[in-house]
Amino acid sequence: MPSLVDLDPPGLRDELSAAGFPPSHATHILRRFYARQGTLDTWPEQIGPRIARWLREQEPAPATKLHTRHESADGTVKLLLSLNDGKSIETVLMPAHRPGRAAGCVSSQVGCAMGCTFCASTRNGLDRNLRPGEIVEQFLHLQREAAAMDRRLTSLVFMGMGEPMHNLDNVIAAIHRIADPAMGGLGWRQITVSTVGIVPGIDALADADLNVHLALSLHAADDETRSRIVPVNNRYPVADVMAAARRFADRTHRIPTIEYCLLAGVNDSPLHARRLAELMAGFRAHVNLIPYNTIAGADYRAPEERATMQFLQCLRDANIIVHVRETRGDPINAACGQLRNLNSLELHAPVLVPSPGIPGEG
Ligand code: SAH
Repeated sequence: MPSLVDLDPPGLRDELSAAGFPPSHATHILRRFYARQGTLDTWPEQIGPRIARWLREQEPAPATKLHTRHESADGTVKLLLSLNDGKSIETVLMPAHRPGRAAGCVSSQVGCAMGCTFCASTRNGLDRNLRPGEIVEQFLHLQREAAAMDRRLTSLVFMGMGEPMHNLDNVIAAIHRIADPAMGGLGWRQITVSTVGIVPGIDALADADLNVHLALSLHAADDETRSRIVPVNNRYPVADVMAAARRFADRTHRIPTIEYCLLAGVNDSPLHARRLAELMAGFRAHVNLIPYNTIAGADYRAPEERATMQFLQCLRDANIIVHVRETRGDPINAACGQLRNLNSLELHAPVLVPSPGIPGEG
């Protein structure tokens, strides 16, 4: 039998029937499984000890194992997870300002093929897509981490490694497990899918009717600048991705987020800000400015504080809702764009100091 993270209610119903158990328990079992952060420890009486034992016997070993856990002073926790084929991915938990809450950031691929010049995740190219279960397990790791700090995971963003639109079927399958009301992990609206701007993917996500949020990594409002830092702009230029974001907003009634990584001397001038303001005119979306987080081997600099403030003010003057994203997790390379896959886990060992894992984790 597949792992519970790979089953939806109909799938589990089939498995239960085949094993001679009442299929009607399926939804209840899955809801319970997610409510208990993916553990099979305690089961309510009505499910019965026989099913519980059977489930425990059937459940295969997890698809992800906690390899290293790193915590930065601001409370951000980065988990390096090893996959069954020896690859590794990173997933990040950020405590929210509101007490009792935390936000999670998951990867959708091992590596990334997009080649954005300022992002570490793309350095070794794309290795492979993550399977739905590998994405769901990241969510469960984050839930457990959140619980360990007395917080609840209340939002999940696909802003880790990879381009979610290039693995959209598996991302959607994972979102169904994480946010399907029948299973009750998170709500649809607590999930954000971030894309570099793959137009057919944005439309497909709208078609999927999931009610999730969209974030678009724009980074420049003109094609010349954008093509220089986001190579996929040659395929899907600014006008096309913005049109897709507008279609998404019209169809889903969700307000998209436009992400803009500020790179000193590249896209942070007042002229760039004015171009962005013009592009955003009449479009109900939020702009998120992300001052560049340093990555090894790239020749960029974070903008001066003054440039960031000027950029912000220019957009505010044009009545655009805009925020500057606070950098989290920088000392442990867990900030935006710093996540990367490592060909060998050993490579990582001297850099990251293992700290006590979560109870129950190996
Ligand atoms: N491929 C998707 C998901 C990754 S999200 C996408 O492009 O949206 C990661 C976000 O962090 C993106 O907005 C990305 O452009 C941004 N980012 C990448 N490298 C960064 C860096 N060095 N500093 C700040 N933000 C960065």
